[in-house]
Amino acid sequence: MKPASGVTRDHAIVIGGGIAGLLAARVLADHFRQVTLIERDRLPAPESRKGVPQGDHVHCMLAKGQEILAQLFPDLLPSLIAGGAIPADMGLHFHWHHHGVWKTRFDSGIAITFFTRPFLESQIAERVRALPNVRVFDASAEQLLIDRDVGRALGVAIRSSSDAPTSIHADLVVDAGGRGSQTPQWLEPAGYVRPAESAVQVNISYASRLYRAPRAKREWHALHVTSLPPSKRQGVIFAVEGDRLLTTLVGLHGERPPGGDAGYLDFARSLAIPDNHQVIANADPLTPIATLRFPANLRRHYERLAAFPDRLLVMGDAVCTFNPIYGQGMTVSALEAMALGRLLQVDNDLTGVCRKFRKQVADIIDTPWQLATGEDFRHAEAAGARPAGIPFLHWYTGRLHVNCASDAALALAFYRVMHMLDAPSALFRPSVVWRTLRG
Ligand SMILES: Cc1cc2nc3c(=O)[nH]c(=O)nc-3n(C[C@H](O)[C@H](O)[C@H](O)COP(=O)(O)OP(=O)(O)OC[C@H]3O[C@@H](n4cnc5c(N)ncnc54)[C@H](O)[C@@H]3O)c2cc1C
Repeated sequence: MKPASGVTRDHAIVIGGGIAGLLAARVLADHFRQVTLIERDRLPAPESRKGVPQGDHVHCMLAKGQEILAQLFPDLLPSLIAGGAIPADMGLHFHWHHHGVWKTRFDSGIAITFFTRPFLESQIAERVRALPNVRVFDASAEQLLIDRDVGRALGVAIRSSSDAPTSIHADLVVDAGGRGSQTPQWLEPAGYVRPAESAVQVNISYASRLYRAPRAKREWHALHVTSLPPSKRQGVIFAVEGDRLLTTLVGLHGERPPGGDAGYLDFARSLAIPDNHQVIANADPLTPIATLRFPANLRRHYERLAAFPDRLLVMGDAVCTFNPIYGQGMTVSALEAMALGRLLQVDNDLTGVCRKFRKQVADIIDTPWQLATGEDFRHAEAAGARPAGIPFLHWYTGRLHVNCASDAALALAFYRVMHMLDAPSALFRPSVVWRTLRG
């Protein structure tokens, strides 16, 4: 593909076939003659896979992310629902015990869908694999090829189980290799410095299990109990495809939901309200309990580097991982993919695209980072740079959350911010302030 300026857009490489890599490949396919996606695991993978251990755990796609998926793959949501995913309304079907109160129930008009992460990812992967100009390599990216003299990425050295190590060259390389991205290490031998990092420690443990959904009628499709600090225990149950319930118990700051049957139920019983325990105590387990630890929100500041190779982009969890309890990562990846598509659409110069993309990724991350870490700082144990004004924000949003027990307009304002449909400033509109501050 050759835009008017004559810049070659022949070949793009994407490292990693998680949600970020798949969405990047989908967008790049509109702008490059050939896209090569390099993924260690075989795709599509209908079950949880080694490279994405979080696939065993509850994954909520925020409404903004769902909107973007519908734009990129118009048949995806109907196909997920035909396959058993559960369409829902945030206000009606997401029963949420938050800040010590149940959120009021109302028709919010915010559409969300419940599924397992492997089901979502495999459906996206099938569609990306079917694109005529995308090829998927089952291989591991071992090293970036960088020409320091001209200051640009040239391609990637790869290794697969079947073939000899080889190199692939491209006009653009996108690293979507997740939290374990090796770009920081790969930069150093080429004479670049690693990006600075920001971290906020949360020391979280997840323990998840699939159950057969009991036959009894339910009013909810999601049942979520969020801990009110100093409590560090939470639990969530999603109704997912295959008439199953996916239950995740979460411990913060060193609390660990056990991986054994009895301890699991005891942990569920210890939550602020008994509802989650009652559900799983009466349901048949279908899988062993999968556990996972997540140490910290982690952000790599590529945007601050004075020197960075041209024709190299980093996105998704490779740039920033958020405390997963806020369900932001997939939607942030989707926003980044859309930003990349827009830049490629309007800018013929790939060098300019790369420079602007680094800045735009940082801008996209800023808000969810503030929302996630701001909430995390309610716990005294959350170690990291506390911004000024946090005590006021905690006081204000604490009042707001409590009033969401009875005020649907307030709950809607909050849901729209949480689902990235509105900016956080919407929580400071005069009508919202008034509803927050009244008794
Ligand atoms: C426990 C948990 C729960 C979560 N819950 C939610 C949620 O509810 N909602 C939400 O939006 N987000 C959630 N997230 C975050 C979400 O999973 C990620 O943000 C999102 O999937 C984007 O990740 P990614 O594609 O950048 O990276 P990943 O999903 O980590 O994918 C990276 C991919 O790159 C491959 N790879 C890595 N290195 C190489 C290499 N050198 N060569 C070849 N392949 C390579 C890996 O095999 C993997 O497939 C959760 C995360 C965790 C840990």
